[in-house]
Amino acid sequence: MAAASDCLFCKIVAGDIPAEVVHVTEHAVAFRDINAQAPTHVLVVPRAHYRNAAELAHGDPEATAELLRVAAAVAEAEGHEDYRLVFNTGESVGQSVFHTHVHLLAGRAMTWPPG
Ligand code: 5GP
Repeated sequence: MAAASDCLFCKIVAGDIPAEVVHVTEHAVAFRDINAQAPTHVLVVPRAHYRNAAELAHGDPEATAELLRVAAAVAEAEGHEDYRLVFNTGESVGQSVFHTHVHLLAGRAMTWPPG
């Protein structure tokens, strides 16, 4: 799927908007969240543009799996055995950027359920 011209994360993947990139693979790019909610807060995104996790899973299962592998690799590289992964889907649950991304959060205690 092609990049979307008005998509923030497509621009970060393309290098047109700067980000602190921590890991890259064939299908995925991982970079630090600009508004970190934990000592490690990294977003892992597919290079291709899909609106949310379900669309990615249907359109590119291999990239979907790669997001999870990259998140695990980043957590390990940053020394975290415990971590939380979050896919927000839809505005009412907090999705604000409509290019699939998984939040990797680690480095502090967390409660459940989330707010
Ligand atoms: P969402 O709310 O869609 O699940 O997550 C979007 C995330 O993108 C937010 O945590 C937000 O802080 C992050 N974000 C928004 N704009 C930028 C940006 O320009 N650069 C980076 N690195 N993160 C961003």
